[in-house]
Amino acid sequence: MNQAPTGPVDTLIFARWVIPIAPAGRVLEDAAVAIADGRIAAVLSASDARGLRAERTVALPEHALLPGLVNAHGHAAMTLLRGFADDVPLHAWLNDYIWPAEGRWVSEEFVRDGTQLAVAEMLRSGVTTFADMYFFPGITAQAAQDAGMRAQIHFPVFDFPSAWGQGPDDYIHKGLQLRDDFKHSSLISVGFGPHAPYTVGDEALARVATLAEELDAAVQIHVHETRHEVEQALRERGERPLARLHRLGLLGPRTMCVHGTELDDSDIALLAQNNSHVVHCPESNLKLASGFCPVAKLLGAGVNVALGTDGAASNNDLDLFGELRTAALLAKAVAGDASALPAHAALYMATLAGARALGLEERIGSIEAGKAADLIAVNLGDAESEPLYHPPSQLVYGNSGSRVSHSWIGGRLLLENRQPTTINLFELRERARHWRQRIANG
Ligand SMILES: [Zn+2]
Repeated sequence: MNQAPTGPVDTLIFARWVIPIAPAGRVLEDAAVAIADGRIAAVLSASDARGLRAERTVALPEHALLPGLVNAHGHAAMTLLRGFADDVPLHAWLNDYIWPAEGRWVSEEFVRDGTQLAVAEMLRSGVTTFADMYFFPGITAQAAQDAGMRAQIHFPVFDFPSAWGQGPDDYIHKGLQLRDDFKHSSLISVGFGPHAPYTVGDEALARVATLAEELDAAVQIHVHETRHEVEQALRERGERPLARLHRLGLLGPRTMCVHGTELDDSDIALLAQNNSHVVHCPESNLKLASGFCPVAKLLGAGVNVALGTDGAASNNDLDLFGELRTAALLAKAVAGDASALPAHAALYMATLAGARALGLEERIGSIEAGKAADLIAVNLGDAESEPLYHPPSQLVYGNSGSRVSHSWIGGRLLLENRQPTTINLFELRERARHWRQRIANG
């Protein structure tokens, strides 16, 4: 709790519970959060806050107020391929369905409409920051910014051409331009997204490593997603993918390794030594039968583990509350230990751990004075939430994103009683239906 601010504040939110995430494990009852100039000005007891002058007061008498969730890995535009190819293993899913469909349909218009659909879904389920790796990343960045959403865009790098670029040099050139275009944005940051060790060669990976280091930019890469990937690398190169990334200088404190289902002790040691992050995407891994990320072992080794939904084509939703429930349950099953990833740790994974992975922990991820006012309210007033002994447990084990009622990003109200303030849901649905018609009729 802080001292009450002396000047007037813009917004004053009274909530039944405030779960600040930092300090860890804390639940404040009958508390208030004051917002001024887009930032959290103070966290107060409700009684201390009652004397404050505020332009706007919001009463959330049955709600838990949390920092906005951080979806640390996804492909927003792929919402337009939600349910397009299900019940198929990863290799066939990519080669026979997703890549051909992307080859046929991906365009600026596809990315714009798909991203808007994703942003609406994420806002309505508690995400206030998302990481994204996809073609036409400038369109994704613009769509997020226009909606008032915070995003870190990892522009894709492949060895082969796509609708967005010719090859590694062209992707990197366009990506650096994009970084420049958004360098003054308070919402958008831009990093490197080399797709995976099996789609990007040594030369391009080393170049990404050098540039990212020079620019202090984030790097996100899919790695050790399946046993097949690791076995193939051993067969063809005699080297595990993570060891290869390390050799090429790509493992460091700004690098996020997405998936990490197939990790032995040497891999975990490499991640820990390099302070690299793992982005765990449990539902995508389960759906594609990719394997199991050893979350408890990683946390035990001191590795920061963030949480992501991956794209809607392999999930099929972008509900990070659903994801953190799956993560908490799966961590226990994989570790054979019911105390693995307890409720508070799961909430941390979906908030501050995500902010750390993106290099944004000074700005977002917890409800602390000075941080950006990225906040969400979850309505726990329904019968299904009763009796409520322990709010964090309810939020992790008995919740879904559909209970999120309000959301603020940088102090701006973007969701009010589940209605987005910057997005027209009716129009969005019409456009998504139009895409379904086009894509289904091929
Ligand atoms: Zn992915």
